[in-house]
Amino acid sequence: MLVDKYMIRKQNESMVLEQIIKHQRISRAEVAKKTHLNKATVSEITASLIDKELVEELGEGNSAKKGGRKPVLMGFNKQAGYTLNFDLGYNYVSSSLTYLDGSFVDTRKIKNFSVNRGNVLKILTEIINDHLTKCQDSSTYGIVGITIAIHGIVEENRISFTPYYDLDQIDLAGELGKLFNVPIMLENEANLTAIAEATFSSRDFEIVSLSIYSGIGAGIIMNNQLHKGKAGKSGEVGHSTLFPKGRTCPCGNQGCLEQYCSEKAVLEEFSNKTGLEADLDVFMTEYQNQQPIALAIIAEMAFHLSIGVNNLICHFSPETIFLNSAIIRKIPDMLPLIASHLTSSFNQDVELVNSALGANATLYGAAALSIRQFLEIKSLDLTEAL
Ligand SMILES: [Zn+2]
Repeated sequence: MLVDKYMIRKQNESMVLEQIIKHQRISRAEVAKKTHLNKATVSEITASLIDKELVEELGEGNSAKKGGRKPVLMGFNKQAGYTLNFDLGYNYVSSSLTYLDGSFVDTRKIKNFSVNRGNVLKILTEIINDHLTKCQDSSTYGIVGITIAIHGIVEENRISFTPYYDLDQIDLAGELGKLFNVPIMLENEANLTAIAEATFSSRDFEIVSLSIYSGIGAGIIMNNQLHKGKAGKSGEVGHSTLFPKGRTCPCGNQGCLEQYCSEKAVLEEFSNKTGLEADLDVFMTEYQNQQPIALAIIAEMAFHLSIGVNNLICHFSPETIFLNSAIIRKIPDMLPLIASHLTSSFNQDVELVNSALGANATLYGAAALSIRQFLEIKSLDLTEAL
């Protein structure tokens, strides 16, 4: 069998870089120990990474033996480049410019308007140009990738289904690629939140991240890899049936979970029952004033969501389920309320927690995707970076 020396060198370089990123400050000897490569190979690879300005020397650490030579520590040069990231909601756009460790350099959020195929390119172009003014010209690589979170299904970098905006009718990555000469990636929003947890907050190998916004979607990490299913349609738990013959859903079915307990569904129900605006701040004011309709809506939302959570646990047996929802973040009682309905023996060992990354989980996941692609590494562990 022919062994491709270039491939082996590339794999070894990826392994070394993964360890340097994971440990933040590490010596060549420690890298050799963790990768099982010999010291000469590690020295050669780190010299090349320093040459590429991806790794820098940080000075001397403590010696292993008393009186021994102090090792030189190395670290990842996060400022070698930037990522640009978008969370494209149906009525908002949020964005971040980050260094190569995902830390934010600049953020933007515009809301209360409809995102559609007619205005999306103009909006994204303006925001990108705005972020570009915050990049240092001296950065080695500049922008290494733009990743856009889509609230819908993404298949081969194209949007194949979106229930709440019409962006499936344009080639968004292709059009943006003509304007900006960098890799443009589209990915499902819930998938990005799962990638974010697996990169920045958790070393668990079995993770589900449940996003509850206009719709409900789950990003699923199995054996430390994103599980996308055929054509990117895995994790569409929002379209699992809650009530047969229930409310009509844009997916073509009836009684889907997200027609009852997505943020959009809950706020619309609140508006229909009270005549008030379908707005989260208005809802929160009523809830905090113990208005009975708002209280009843939250009790019902928790119950319905617990059915979706139970189904996810039974299907995927995760170690942890991370929740991403503005309503749940604002109402601390929601988590115990959902958990109180999880009485099955299957549910007992699963942790149910709010995402520590908060409203920015999607943007962090988008950054992680661009960074991984640019560095050509499989495992990106930045749990100690932020
Ligand atoms: Zn549906």
